[in-house]
Amino acid sequence: MAVFGKNQDLIERSRRTADAATMRRRQEVQPKAKAVRGIRPSWVDTYKPSEGKYDLVRLIRNPTTFVSPLEPSDDAGAEVYEETVDWYKYIKHYHATLKRSVNCSGGPQWKNKNASTPCHACAMRFGSWDDVQRKYTSPVGVALEYVLTVLVMELFHKVPQIDAAGNIRGNNKGEPYTDWVQCQGEGCEYCAEGLEMKEGHIQTWPMPKTFFAQLMDLGDKKSNFCLSCAKKTIKWFGNEYECSNCDNPQPASVFDLNFQVCKKKINDKQTLLDFEEVEIAPVPEQYISLLDSLPNMAQKFGPTALDQQSKQFQYTPKPSTQARFINK
Ligand SMILES: [Zn+2]
Ligand SMILES: [Zn+2]
Ligand SMILES: [Zn+2]
Repeated sequence: MAVFGKNQDLIERSRRTADAATMRRRQEVQPKAKAVRGIRPSWVDTYKPSEGKYDLVRLIRNPTTFVSPLEPSDDAGAEVYEETVDWYKYIKHYHATLKRSVNCSGGPQWKNKNASTPCHACAMRFGSWDDVQRKYTSPVGVALEYVLTVLVMELFHKVPQIDAAGNIRGNNKGEPYTDWVQCQGEGCEYCAEGLEMKEGHIQTWPMPKTFFAQLMDLGDKKSNFCLSCAKKTIKWFGNEYECSNCDNPQPASVFDLNFQVCKKKINDKQTLLDFEEVEIAPVPEQYISLLDSLPNMAQKFGPTALDQQSKQFQYTPKPSTQARFINK
């Protein structure tokens, strides 16, 4: 496949430039923008499709059982339910001024003041209701995020973690802690530094509902293809699939596709995913061993502890009204 040929060129090129880059690195003390500080935040090892550059990816089934949170559009009395699905759903709070985010700790019933658990971010938002302006004045927002597990079939660099002071973080044997960060292609700073590379990496992919819906649609479009007999002969009859070619209808889904993806700006307000070269295919042989250990979604995107929320959002809870809010 052409994409692997291109990657091979990149590996060769980075090997050739490695020595010169080592020299350059000694003069550089600037910490990386992607530096990891303190605890591993949930954005570490997450996938973000780029604009203008397609990545070859595949969604991986990662069954998780959890109580689905109320959506921001639900009313506070709506029911929540347990589900086992191949993705995860959670409420994220973004602080527009501090440009940081925390995960909601209000529980699945975060909107229901009688059933929610304490969340400082919810307290900041819901405590900011202004009766005159008829709106919340807090910079803290509320958004539903979906998280999928994705195999990114691109090049990755082993990048040392940098602490707040610009030093490489490591264990007491002097071995650095590292993260896998995708190669940026042309002009990649990690290539220039000659950092170790590998091809293919499993990441979590948090996304808004619009992207999630686009991906599910992509799968639906392939659901007339039967994985059992490899023919486009499946039909949905209201309550079951039937294959006109075999007795074991197995419709292809979004988890059976290899495809290229990037982000595209539709207009000033809207960005959508764009897909290319969507094909029903197995996991390429070379990546199968990567599927042995999948990320723990509930652990990675579970509630942010209250003390971490205070720190991230610079919030001092009032002693008596701590993390409670009036629901509007
Ligand atoms: Zn919350
Ligand atoms: Zn690179
Ligand atoms: Zn069939």
